[in-house]
Amino acid sequence: MGKSEVSLERTYRSMLYKIIFDIGKRLRNPSIDRWFAFLKESEKWDIETLEKYQLQRLQEIVSFAYEHSEFYRKTFDEAKVHPSHIQSLSDVTKLPILEKKDVIACNAQIHTKFKFKKVHVATTSGSTGDSLVFNRDESADSFNRAAIFRGYSWHGVEPWQRNGYFWGFDFTAFERIKVWFLDRLQNRFRVFNYQDREFKRFARKLLKAQYIHGYSSMIYQSAKLINQWNLPKPKNIKMVKGTSEKIYDSYHEEVIKAFGHKVISEYGATEPGIMAFECPEGNMHMNMEGVLIEKIDNEIIVTNLQMKSFPVIRYRLGDYIELAPKTKQCACGRAHYIVEEVTGRIGENVYGNKQVYPSLYFYYIFKNLGKKHNLKLTYQVVQETKGRLTFNIEEKLNQDQKQLLENEIVNYFSDDIAYTITDGFKKEKVNSKSKSFISYI
Ligand SMILES: [Zn+2]
Repeated sequence: MGKSEVSLERTYRSMLYKIIFDIGKRLRNPSIDRWFAFLKESEKWDIETLEKYQLQRLQEIVSFAYEHSEFYRKTFDEAKVHPSHIQSLSDVTKLPILEKKDVIACNAQIHTKFKFKKVHVATTSGSTGDSLVFNRDESADSFNRAAIFRGYSWHGVEPWQRNGYFWGFDFTAFERIKVWFLDRLQNRFRVFNYQDREFKRFARKLLKAQYIHGYSSMIYQSAKLINQWNLPKPKNIKMVKGTSEKIYDSYHEEVIKAFGHKVISEYGATEPGIMAFECPEGNMHMNMEGVLIEKIDNEIIVTNLQMKSFPVIRYRLGDYIELAPKTKQCACGRAHYIVEEVTGRIGENVYGNKQVYPSLYFYYIFKNLGKKHNLKLTYQVVQETKGRLTFNIEEKLNQDQKQLLENEIVNYFSDDIAYTITDGFKKEKVNSKSKSFISYI
């Protein structure tokens, strides 16, 4: 084929996937185009207009929940708070906090008694094994997808474009067929293992990809292999997006070398939906039209402003976050507030001989090394017994670097915890979600 024929074929292919995408949209998310158009308009709003919209949505969702949900009617009454008390955004603090155990135990009562034209079933699988199933009304589902696609648009990406996907791959033979079929429909291909031949085939497919997404640890692993084996580097990638996992600063160098972009972050969870999306200037803008975010004792408390079928109001999601000062301006021009960083999961404790510490300390230890000494490390901390920690570090450390790490560890845990540092550590599994702290206690 000549060059023009190749590009013609590519154009047809791209048109085909746009058509498939449009059909899927019409069937599943009839209101998505309207929401996308709205979000492309509202992304130009100033902060006053955004907050005015948030207040209006908050009032609406709180009234709706009070009227149609048995759970909210009861908890608001018990807290002696009425929807009419919400006169400003800060009034949200008058409402009770929704705990994870409530959304599971009171699932039926939280669901609103209202006949929606169309709902989608959403499922989460909690790390502790309790899974949550709830109905997301079509409008909220479409809003959520539109918000993600707006994030894509900031990077010049259309969702139907060719994309490489990095996700867990413990599939049975039947699941593999299903996955293959769904991937085809979405113009998507994925890595199934890192064995020489199969990975090289995957790397060849990447040459045509326009974006890649999934677990950042797997994106990093692939970038390293491409660099090490000197494979041809993809030139058409416009966005590398990491989800559901910590994105280590140490990833960026290899990833930029292999794919030409750093890993950007999408911050979302099933219950509240998409909460923030990183812009090309490297700032995670809150999805203010969709969620109201509060920070209390370093924890995120989030209210979904769009979902009426299963209202999520002041939900303790379980993440520690850091917010940028409200005055921080982003060079991209968007006024939406900025989430500085998602710093860790709550409820993961580190046990010393005498005291208990939050796993957040690991975040500080490694953040300090990066900030003070420009030492960016990929780590995993393991606790098997009380008073003992193993620090597995992927990079090789020299004596000075080891000393710096030791100083930081002692700084946070003093002599309450003994520790071992293993550098040059190779992870056994790179085919699933990777955790920065594993406790067997
Ligand atoms: Zn920005």
